[in-house]
Amino acid sequence: MKNAQCKKCLNKFHEKDIYTIQQFQYREEPPYRWSLEFFKKSNIDEWDSFCEKCLMEYSKNSKEIWDESKNSKD
Ligand SMILES: [Zn+2]
Repeated sequence: MKNAQCKKCLNKFHEKDIYTIQQFQYREEPPYRWSLEFFKKSNIDEWDSFCEKCLMEYSKNSKEIWDESKNSKD
C-alpha cells in the first residue's frame, strides 16, 4: 500500500521509500547544520517525507547555493 506522501510533489509512495533531509548528514558539504538551517527557511524539517526524486533535487539545489555562498565570501 502506498501510504506515504512526498511533501514536495505530493506523489504517493511506499513507506519504505521515504527520504528525509536526515540523509544529508552523510554529505561532506555543506555541513549538516547548514543544511538544517537552509531547509528550515523553506519550512522543511528532519521529519518531512520526500520521494527520492525530490530529495535529490533538494540535494543538488542546496549544494549549489552552498557553493555560491562560499564563493561570495572569498
Ligand atoms: Zn516528491
